[in-house]
Amino acid sequence: MIEKVVSLSKRRGFVFQSSEIYGGLNGCWDYGPLGVELLKNIKEEWWKSMTYREDIEGLDASILMHPKVWEASGHVANFTDPMIDCKQCKARFRVDTLGDAISEKKKKKIIRAFEENLSDENKEKLNDIYNIHEELDERFEAILESKDLSFELLSEVNCPNCGNKGQFTEPRNFNLMFKTFVGPVESEDNVVFLRPETAQGIFVNFVNVLNSSRQKLPFGIAQIGKAFRNEINTKNFLFRTREFEQMEMQYFVKPSDDKKHYDEWKESRIAWYKNLGISEDKLRFHDHPADKLAHYAKEATDVEYEFPFGWGEIEGIHNRTDFDLSKHQEFSGKSQQYFDDETKERFIPYIIETSAGASRSFMAFLVDAYHEEEVNGEQRVVMSFHPKLAPIKVAIFPLVNKDRMPEVAREIEADLRPFMKVFYDSKGAVGRRYRRQDEAGTPYCITVDNQTLDDRTVTVRERDSMEQERVSIDELLPVLLNKLK
Ligand code: ATP
Repeated sequence: MIEKVVSLSKRRGFVFQSSEIYGGLNGCWDYGPLGVELLKNIKEEWWKSMTYREDIEGLDASILMHPKVWEASGHVANFTDPMIDCKQCKARFRVDTLGDAISEKKKKKIIRAFEENLSDENKEKLNDIYNIHEELDERFEAILESKDLSFELLSEVNCPNCGNKGQFTEPRNFNLMFKTFVGPVESEDNVVFLRPETAQGIFVNFVNVLNSSRQKLPFGIAQIGKAFRNEINTKNFLFRTREFEQMEMQYFVKPSDDKKHYDEWKESRIAWYKNLGISEDKLRFHDHPADKLAHYAKEATDVEYEFPFGWGEIEGIHNRTDFDLSKHQEFSGKSQQYFDDETKERFIPYIIETSAGASRSFMAFLVDAYHEEEVNGEQRVVMSFHPKLAPIKVAIFPLVNKDRMPEVAREIEADLRPFMKVFYDSKGAVGRRYRRQDEAGTPYCITVDNQTLDDRTVTVRERDSMEQERVSIDELLPVLLNKLK
């Protein structure tokens, strides 16, 4: 199914491989004419839901930041993935993903062989893992992630690329930040990083936004922007790429209110996806168990979507405590405290983070919208986007290219264009024009036909039900605006 979505994406201009004529660049994708509209609409809906309210301000921080930011945040020391190379075929893998392609039966066999050879000390460590995780898959992954145990488990595992058993190098940590230099001299003193997340731009502007906006706790700062990670394995189309876009909102709260806001944001974020049409049964939370929490987090959950290849995170919601602001206070020497007028207390606020991938949720919206169905013995492919997200809102067709139909259709086009993205199509049979719009996810198609010339009405055809109604040309704009709401 994912192949069909990738192929439709290319054919219809949603997503192209980056630099395709040169063979592509791994982990990078380009958004085509329809894709850029869909992506823009997703970001716009997010932006409206976040910032068209009293307590959240917007921000657009620069991608390059002072290198100290990444020391304070822990990224220089901790933003690493353990990786291994196969000594035989030289393929490189992220250690924790090695279980992905192994069947349950095989995993059981591997674990049995591994348990038999363990030292007593490591047996205890294994027991700790078994006490936390009950599922085989989770146990397998936790062993791979354990510094002490993973290498021994790996000696029982076959290389996913060449099939040789236990031929791996010891796991090594690989920092995921892209490095570059400011100015003409390529020296260690001039190193800067492409930001791996937009969040730090928000944290370091906390005091600026607080003072300029005169907000009081609780309040948030929202930002949409590009982030870069030198991922070891890019895979699954747009799911894990090296350049991507994030939509992050950091909500600053009184420490004692953290739980309340964390729970509220959890509910409101999953509702956002549902309200924009994502199938409810394909969304769930995955709460992080205590042993998997990131170094900064007190509580964390992922909003997950069930992709064709399995469940995957599309957004993270974290209680980051006062970790970030405390670290920036320590490293910069500038106070990051908040003064509470009422209680006359000074303290560093806690942060509840909602961190969504624009590109990853684009993929979820794309996959979720894809439908195949049979209509009158013919197959039809429909992208059932929510009207707010649909790249093109309305297509306009003259039934035939004569009898003043094109002129009337062009008039309608000119009337609607200032209000929405419209598409004019006069080529081919009307049935085929409908199919093309179904594939683009256009919610409404307007056809100017013989009757139009008599009574100034047109047919408006709805994408999913394929039902048609006649609407007077004079009523078209309000009718469509109402339907698209
Ligand atoms: P993963 O474990 O899947 O790498 P993560 O836990 O590192 O993700 P966060 O750091 O919490 O992700 O980033 C927040 C969001 O940014 C994710 O939910 C995802 O939507 C998006 N994101 C992170 N890394 C990538 C990537 N390489 N490609 C596309 N989107 C990404």
